[in-house]
Amino acid sequence: MAAPVRFVVQLHDATTLHFDFRLQSGDVLRSWAVPKGLSLDPGVRRLAVPVDDHSLAAGEFEGVHDGQRHGTGAVIIWDEGTADIVRDEPGHVSFILHGRKLSGGFALTRTGQKRWILVKVRDEDARPGSDIVAEQPASVRSGKTWTQLHDAAQIVSPGGKHTPVMRGCSDSR
Ligand code: MN
Repeated sequence: MAAPVRFVVQLHDATTLHFDFRLQSGDVLRSWAVPKGLSLDPGVRRLAVPVDDHSLAAGEFEGVHDGQRHGTGAVIIWDEGTADIVRDEPGHVSFILHGRKLSGGFALTRTGQKRWILVKVRDEDARPGSDIVAEQPASVRSGKTWTQLHDAAQIVSPGGKHTPVMRGCSDSR
């Protein structure tokens, strides 16, 4: 098995609140927008919409995007860690995550032009019936929820010009 790569799941309040799942491939992060986030329940199939590759730096971002047209622009790092890639072929990638919240095998499979399905593999890390998104909503970096992070940014910068400005992230979904 190849050397582990980085993965990150960012919760992003844009046009709709969604999760961005990012998996390192070389010097970029392959990315999918996952509206409902990941699940440890192997019976749950989650829609994952492929989006543009992002820079490794984008995967380190937690804060409030400046000037976002829709939503507050708040982003938290919901989970992060390393991933062992098991299979990587056109339309399918499977991997083992070693995160703070997510662990064990997952598989992403393309089922349409802009439509992939993300599922938890049935293994010892599977937790049937669980809802990790509801159980652990906060950032693994700051311990804040996205609303707490957004409110804190507003307090720090009452002029409404909250920083930092995020560059290299055109993902406004
Ligand atoms: Mn996003």
